[in-house]
Amino acid sequence: TGPELFQPERPNSQGFDLRHIPTLDRVNAARDAFRTHHWCARPLLSGDARPDDDQPIVNPAQSRDRPGAVAPASAQDVELALTAATPWQVVADQRSQVLNAAADLYETHFGELFALLAREAGKSLPDAVAELREAVDFLRYYAANIPDAEPAGVFTCISPWNFPLAIFTGQISAALATGNAVLAKPAPQTPLIAHRAVELLHEAGVPRSALQLLPGGPSVGAALTSDPRVSGVAFTGSTGTALKIRAAMAGNLRPGTPLIAETGGLNAMIVDSTALPEQAVQSIIESAFQSAGQRCSALRCLYVQEDIADDLLTMLTGAMDALLVGDPWLISTDCGPVIDEDARLGIADHIALARSEGRVLKEMSVPGDGTFIAPTLIEIPGIAELEREVFGPVLHVVRFNSSELDQIIADINATGYGLTFGLHTRIDDRVQHITEAVHAGNIYVNRNQIGAIVGSQPFGGEGLSGTGPKAGGPNYLTRFCAPDRQVSPE
Ligand code: GLU
Repeated sequence: TGPELFQPERPNSQGFDLRHIPTLDRVNAARDAFRTHHWCARPLLSGDARPDDDQPIVNPAQSRDRPGAVAPASAQDVELALTAATPWQVVADQRSQVLNAAADLYETHFGELFALLAREAGKSLPDAVAELREAVDFLRYYAANIPDAEPAGVFTCISPWNFPLAIFTGQISAALATGNAVLAKPAPQTPLIAHRAVELLHEAGVPRSALQLLPGGPSVGAALTSDPRVSGVAFTGSTGTALKIRAAMAGNLRPGTPLIAETGGLNAMIVDSTALPEQAVQSIIESAFQSAGQRCSALRCLYVQEDIADDLLTMLTGAMDALLVGDPWLISTDCGPVIDEDARLGIADHIALARSEGRVLKEMSVPGDGTFIAPTLIEIPGIAELEREVFGPVLHVVRFNSSELDQIIADINATGYGLTFGLHTRIDDRVQHITEAVHAGNIYVNRNQIGAIVGSQPFGGEGLSGTGPKAGGPNYLTRFCAPDRQVSPE
């Protein structure tokens, strides 16, 4: 008999292999059917909604393309939703079946979801494929791991625009799997995808009283996080907003109401002189520039050992030259737009300041239309220089000598963030020493530092990067349950 093959109990979604031309053709054809489609996002309540006026959504890659319009929830809608919210009181098996059915529906509608991810969120096709897989994985993973516990009650889920399907679905499916009623507020930039996802969840059998959608901005978020009828909040977004939510909750909600927050990072990577240069460069390119750097896991500060720095940076800038910046609808595009004009201006300011100080090592050009920032390399003396997370395709580089390693690790820890960290070295003792010393939720050695996989690489940080427990891991669901059954965060 041959070797026993490892068979996971719950295989992850297979997605689509875009290197296989017939598959690519099928995916493109399905997405093309939605090239000019117009979606509408409105509050999806248990009863009738009376939202505010429609606002257009603009494609970040093409200012003339309007994929749809959003009618934000009014204050009245928020009150209606809070009154109607009813925990999903059916047996766990039934919830599990419905969430699995939703996963199947997501997969059936891949063409439409890929079109939405491109036109509303600026996602390239490979990013969209990865995002759909992750969303489906969250649904199936939580459906397969429902703890034997009571739901907390009503959960508010506030999700970001950078993973408008995966993180949106991850929060909701965790709260629903455990039997809560969910009030979902997607990021103001990406309500169309959220609206379509909630329609699919309702179609799969989630009752409307257990899942209501409230598109809108900070006022909707504030109302949904400060109301005493809310038993818990799941939030992914900036550290600043998480702190505001915590303050609102402390003022109004019952003591012990959980806030599950995944926030920002100032993620570093160390590349020493024993690293394999080709492998390191590929990891750096992916970690810093994939998704236009708009991942909270993305690499922001690269430490390169002095002995190899010139060679490595020559290879890195050469690899950057090969990146195509443009419309994510085109399969050749490596780096799409940033989400909107506000984001673009904030990142452009940061680059302009570095340019005025003569610290920009590499800049590239961008398309004339759309909110683009080209991949950019900036040299800095150390991570302490970075006052804030620059959420885009901007990589900071620091040269170091091996005698400075412990100081570097202290500097990285001193940022207070602790989300991802990358290390490229061939020295085993160093791997052990550094991975033990660095405070970060997800540590990756000799590979890229983005793209955590549900079920095998639970994702989340510590310190200013989040409260834990990690999403897509075994301790996540218990935090959505009534307090007597909870375990403390990882
Ligand atoms: N889970 C994603 C990753 O591992 C990042 C999530 C985020 O950006 O919020 O790349």
